[in-house]
Amino acid sequence: MKDKKELQQVTNCALCADMCKYSCPTYLASGNETISPQKIARLFVYEDKGLLKDRKGFSDVMFQSCMCGACKRHCVYSDYDLRKFIQMGRSIAFKEGLLPDETKKRVKTFTKYGNPNGERQLIQKGTGTVGYFISCSAYKDEALLKAMDRVLTASKMKVQQFGGADICCGAPLYYAGDPEGFTKAAQKMKKQIERRGLDRVVTMCPNCLKMMGELYPQVGVKLNVQLAHTSEFLGSLLSERKIKVKKAKGTATYHDPCLLANDMDITVAPRQIITALGYEIKEPVYTKDHTHCCGAPPGARLGFSKLADQVKSMRLSELKQTGADIYVSSCPSCKAVLSNLGVKDIAELISEQIVHG
Ligand code: SF4
Ligand code: SF4
Repeated sequence: MKDKKELQQVTNCALCADMCKYSCPTYLASGNETISPQKIARLFVYEDKGLLKDRKGFSDVMFQSCMCGACKRHCVYSDYDLRKFIQMGRSIAFKEGLLPDETKKRVKTFTKYGNPNGERQLIQKGTGTVGYFISCSAYKDEALLKAMDRVLTASKMKVQQFGGADICCGAPLYYAGDPEGFTKAAQKMKKQIERRGLDRVVTMCPNCLKMMGELYPQVGVKLNVQLAHTSEFLGSLLSERKIKVKKAKGTATYHDPCLLANDMDITVAPRQIITALGYEIKEPVYTKDHTHCCGAPPGARLGFSKLADQVKSMRLSELKQTGADIYVSSCPSCKAVLSNLGVKDIAELISEQIVHG
C-alpha cells in the first residue's frame, strides 16, 4: 500500500477489538470470523507485507461484504470506512480476473446492455425540471412503476420520469471493482440528466443516490442538480398538501435500507410518511442506525448467493418478530429481497391511500 495514512488506518483496524462485528450482517448471519471487519483489515496488512498467496481466497473475502456501512457506523474511529479498502480489494480482484461468477455475469450483462438486467425499453414520460430516475431495481417492479406514476399524476407536479434501456447509475460496475467502467457510466448519466434539462433528480434506490451524490464526485463527475430520495420528495408532497391521503388503521414495521440509514442518515422522512398515513410504527430491535442489510440481490453487492440468502433470512426473522400488520421499506431491492414478508414501498402505501380532489 503506497499511502502511509491508509496503511496506518487499516493496521489500526487489524489491531482493533472488532466489536463492530456485532453490527456486521454477513458475520452475524454466517458466524464466519474470516469475513468480520477486523479480519478483512488483516488481509490488507498481509497483502502489504507480500504474505497473501491465495489470490482467489482474498478476492472471495472482498465479495463477502454487503458494503452496508454498519462497520463504519459503529467504528471506534470517526474518519474510517473499511469499505474504502474492500473496494480497493475488489479492484485488485477485477484486474486479476478473479470476480465471483455471479458478479462476473452482471458485469457481462452490463457491458452488453448498459444495465445489469439485459435488454429493456426506454421509459420517458412527463416534462419539467424535476426528474424521477427509475433505477434498474424499480424498473423490474411493475407495481412500483404504477404506484409512482399514480402519486406523481395526483400531485399535478411537472416531473420527467426516465429510466430503462441503457440508463444506469453504474453501481454494478462500481461494486465489481471496475473504476474505469464506473467513471464512464457516471459520465453517461451526467449527459442523460443534462440532456433533459433537470435541476433536481429524485430516485427511489439508495444505491443510485449514493453513487450520484458521493461517488461520482470521487471520479471527477459533478452533477449540477439537487438530489433527493423518494421518501424526502414524497414526504414534502404530503406536507405541502400536494397529495391528500385517507388514514389507515393498523401497525407497520419499517425496514431501514442500510445505505439510506448508514450513509445518508435518512430515517425520519419514511417514518413521518408512515405515521401520516395512519399507521402506528412497531420498531424491530435492529432499526435506524442499527439496521441490518437485507443482503441485496445476489451478485449486486454480495458476490455469493448462499451468503446473501443467510443475510436475508436473518433480516426476515428480525422483522417478523414485531408481528406488525404490514411491512414497509423505501428501496426497490429491499422490497424484492424481503418479499416473503410482503414488504411494500412507501410509494405504494401512499398510492393506495390517495384521495383525489
Ligand atoms: S471497522 Fe472500526 S471498529 Fe471495526 S474492527 Fe475496524 S477499526 Fe475496529
Ligand atoms: S460493510 Fe457491512 S457487511 Fe461489509 S464488513 Fe462492514 S458491516 Fe460487514
